[in-house]
Order: sequence, then C-alpha cells, then structure tokens
Amino acid sequence: MILYKSEERPRKMASSDYFTGTVWADPINDAPEPARARSVRVTFEAGARTNWHTHPLGQTLYVIAGEGRFQTEGEPVRVLRQGDTVWIPPGEKHWHGASTTTAMSHIAIHEALNGVHIDWMEPVSDEDFAREPKG
Ligand code: MN
Repeated sequence: MILYKSEERPRKMASSDYFTGTVWADPINDAPEPARARSVRVTFEAGARTNWHTHPLGQTLYVIAGEGRFQTEGEPVRVLRQGDTVWIPPGEKHWHGASTTTAMSHIAIHEALNGVHIDWMEPVSDEDFAREPKG
C-alpha cells in the first residue's frame, strides 16, 4: 500500500491552457496501471471554469462547496450546489466551473481510456459563461 500524506502533495494551480481564471487541483487518487480510476478535488474561484471538453469514459462530479455552473453543448446552463452530483456520459461536450460571483469546489471522478481521461477543446466565452442558468 501507499499512504499519500497531504503535505507531500501540495495543491496545484490548474493550467491556463485548459482553464479560465484561478483553479486549484488537489489530487485524491491517481492509481498506477492497471488501475484506471482517477479523482481530484477542484476549486474554482469566482469566474473560473474549464475549457469545453469531453471524457472518453465519462465523468462524475460531486459538489462539496459553493455554487457553480455546468453546461452540456446545446443545452441550458445549470446551477450546481453543495451535495449535487452530475454524470457526464462518454464523449459529451461540456464545461463546469464557478458562477460569476461565487466559488465552487467539486470532486471529479473519471477513468482513463488508453491513458487519456480528458480531451480538451476551446475556452468557454465570457458570453456563454454569463448566460442566465435554467436552475
Ligand atoms: Mn468534465
């Protein structure tokens, strides 16, 4: 077994190649092959969000703090609050993040396919991000 002490894995600032705004990533598990599951706690400061992206084997999000936003391409923006769970099917183009005024933290759980767990696309425009959510 391996015990990962929290102080040995400092939080990382997420890359501006794939995120807009300030986003912090705290690894939970990143198990070696042949395991495929990976999970990470992600904290989005107000205004921050992922780029558009897909997951080859899907993704589950579990909101642990704050209020955020989620959108699948072609559908309304939705509100995310503490305790909400989102399942994103394989290949579904989407983004997730904070709201314009509040931070949001979620745990993201996904599996890798041939070593890939996310396929990144273009940033979410300010116009798309600020759309009135459906609820
Ligand atoms: Mn995702």
